[in-house]
Amino acid sequence: MITRRTLLQTAAAPIGAAFALPSLSKAIQAATTTYQRPKLKITDVRTAMVMVHGPQAHVRIYTDQGLIGQGESTDAAIGTPALVASFKQFLAGKDPLNIDAIWEALRRSGIFAGAQGGQYTTALSGLEIALWDLVGKALGLPIYQLMGGKFRDRVRMYCDSDMHDVMGAEGDRKVPWIQEAGFTAAKMDIDDARDPARFDRVNRTASNGEIDRMVKEVRHIREKLPPSIDLAVDMHGFYDAPTGKRVAQELESFHLLWLEEPVPAENMDAMAEIRRSTRTPICCGENLFMRWGYTALLEKRAVDIIMPDIQKTGGLSEARKIANLADAYYIPFAPHCVVSPVGTMASAHVCASVPNFLVCEWHWINHPDLWKNWVKEGEIIEKGHIAIPDRPGIGVEMDDEVAKKAQMPGTPWFAASA
Ligand code: MG
Repeated sequence: MITRRTLLQTAAAPIGAAFALPSLSKAIQAATTTYQRPKLKITDVRTAMVMVHGPQAHVRIYTDQGLIGQGESTDAAIGTPALVASFKQFLAGKDPLNIDAIWEALRRSGIFAGAQGGQYTTALSGLEIALWDLVGKALGLPIYQLMGGKFRDRVRMYCDSDMHDVMGAEGDRKVPWIQEAGFTAAKMDIDDARDPARFDRVNRTASNGEIDRMVKEVRHIREKLPPSIDLAVDMHGFYDAPTGKRVAQELESFHLLWLEEPVPAENMDAMAEIRRSTRTPICCGENLFMRWGYTALLEKRAVDIIMPDIQKTGGLSEARKIANLADAYYIPFAPHCVVSPVGTMASAHVCASVPNFLVCEWHWINHPDLWKNWVKEGEIIEKGHIAIPDRPGIGVEMDDEVAKKAQMPGTPWFAASA
């Protein structure tokens, strides 16, 4: 008969091998009776800032049994070290297995300090991801398994082309690269503040010249890519409703995967108006936070696809709740993702565990060496997909020597907090 003890013994071998913690199974079993869950206490939480796709924060949670959990937050991550340090007193001595309760307590305690979104929720996201990694390692299970299991073994990724010279040498180089790498979807940006056809640097209205340039660039890339590769187009919320409607309509013949944020994700009625005016699918969500950021979007039928950024919208549990909420409206889930292989693999566990997953972003095309060496497991994307690992926790471990190359100058590297 398989008891909890034999299960842990079985699980302990790969943990020891993968994470070089041979005393782990003993430590867990010494603190665990046959029918009890592992007993762990948080002892410290530390951060390191890197600069790759903007500022990104890595969070590590330490425990009394030597297990360490790792997480990552992005974009609004500049405040993560200070906020995470402010959480330390609350976290010290807590049982890390109560992930949602820790998250909820910190969220509620910060309601008067901006916990409704932005830097606070971003810091909380990095911390929550580290808790999931820790719990997976403690139980000897991959995160997707703890989330109810997987709907798919591989997670489809799209390549953000991060191009500035679409019609020139950069486009000529990147389009075949995306194809050869095996991606089945790509994304390009069409907003360009430097466009000489722009009449006004402040207003949100694109001129005819700008719209012609946008359509020309999309046609150029669409014709270079084979029809089997989907194309998404991002406007970064820089335009007004008349421009958004016109661009969405003019791009209809390209059968885009989606048009992303033609207007800012602030007025869901305006977004819904654009959606109703066009056959081009509309996508938004990378700057919305937690479930409450998505309720109006879904109720007003403002988009065809949602794209939460898991490393800032609240973390893995929150992203999964958002995905399930969207599924009730038959809306696909296509997470925004600009982080390292640590955060990207964490996102992949969520993508594997929800039925309505469509595609997940990869945004390190301009940092190929950092990407493939960032974790000790090496390259995690093969033929445009991530195979979900069965290793405990997230299933990848940062190579500090490599990641340190991107350390933000003047910031500490996982230094013990006071
Ligand atoms: Mg975007």
